[in-house]
Amino acid sequence: MPRRYSPPEGQIIQAFTFALDPTDEQSVQIARFFGARRKAFNWTLDQMKADFEHYRETGESGTPPSFYSLRKRWTAEKETVCVNDTTGEVWWPEVSKEVFADGVRGATDAYWRWQKSRSGTLKGRKVGFPRFKKRGKDRDRFSFSTGAMRLEADRRHLTLPILGTLRTHENTRRIERLIALNRAKILGVTVSRQGERIIATVRMSVARPQQSGVAQPDSTVGIDVGVRRLATVATTSEVIDELANPHTLEHRLSELRRLQRQRCRRTRGSRQYQETAAKITRLHAEVANLRRHTIHVFTTNLAKTHGVVVVEGLDAASLLQQKGLPGAKSRRRGLSDAALGEIRRQLRYKCPWYGSTLIEADRFFPSSKTCHKCGHVQSIGWFEHWTCEECNSSHQRDDNAAINLARWVGLGSVGAPVKRGAEHQTESHPAAGEDTRKGSPALVGPNNSVRSAA
Ligand SMILES: [Zn+2]
Repeated sequence: MPRRYSPPEGQIIQAFTFALDPTDEQSVQIARFFGARRKAFNWTLDQMKADFEHYRETGESGTPPSFYSLRKRWTAEKETVCVNDTTGEVWWPEVSKEVFADGVRGATDAYWRWQKSRSGTLKGRKVGFPRFKKRGKDRDRFSFSTGAMRLEADRRHLTLPILGTLRTHENTRRIERLIALNRAKILGVTVSRQGERIIATVRMSVARPQQSGVAQPDSTVGIDVGVRRLATVATTSEVIDELANPHTLEHRLSELRRLQRQRCRRTRGSRQYQETAAKITRLHAEVANLRRHTIHVFTTNLAKTHGVVVVEGLDAASLLQQKGLPGAKSRRRGLSDAALGEIRRQLRYKCPWYGSTLIEADRFFPSSKTCHKCGHVQSIGWFEHWTCEECNSSHQRDDNAAINLARWVGLGSVGAPVKRGAEHQTESHPAAGEDTRKGSPALVGPNNSVRSAA
């Protein structure tokens, strides 16, 4: 069964990623480890399938698959499983046993995820029965959870079992400093391939420093996530910050489009095709890294600054805004949905770190279509700029949405300190039961009149 490590009080689990620069010899070893994990994974899957078939035919149910029992079986059988077909050589001693254990664990976890998904106890999308892993289709990786794992004091090397000391492409000061101060402990390391890069993800238990609290505890902001503008930050009355798509990102996106056109024109499988494909992989990684970095800086800043941060609720974007959109627009929308999900995910853990409160607005709250001046909900239109049918004020879509989101706190969101839109009653905390407007979105205008927004 999937296991969870819960860190001691005051500690959190955090993962740090570093690109590695392995030597040629280490690269060969790493590739072999990727294959070895796949071998153990596929072997385990085979065993579980056979057990399942046996049960189906005879009705005799054996013990349900578990990591411990299957790892034991693996240890007993690896002598005959890990044999090179052509040379007859037994190769398991060249691979860390942790790598095999990781493969066995991966398969049993996948099996139980499928079982849980079948019985409806797993959240999210349906999970199918695990499939065999194939070289080239697999996300190459393996993990260590015990053994000699450490960051070297020179901040440029990482030591792992069997592989030895690997040079890191980047400086490891971010975590080496924490370890030296005895504020962090390594729990495990995963080595994987991302495009052409080998990366190490170091999972650590970290003591968070006592935070002094957010810079502006009385400040409430709404965040609207868009496409052209990554995000808009507004208070209940005005826009205070914008996160534009970084130019470096825009530049790479157009370069990406160019390369994709180029690949299209080339013969599949040719040398030139592969060259372009490799360039595309690299660029994809760069784009993802840039976007991630920009979003990280943005969310940290928000969580450190404001007392309350309001974001669109789950699925809000896809449910409300995709209706009746022409294809191209909804495709672009997908991009901002991903960004919205990521911003929300980061805020969920960063806000508690820094003492800020994150609130997710109701998924049906029409933040983009509601006029923030008078509270009227526009019946039609999905435009960058629009004019309110009721009070004639003109709005920019993202600005207006962010302001409405900031005011959501005044609308009786569950479990939040309830504030009224314009007047900032920071000390009013009515009991949850008192709030009768819950579930029927309403809007508090600047004159404090409550209008139905449903
Ligand atoms: Zn209006």
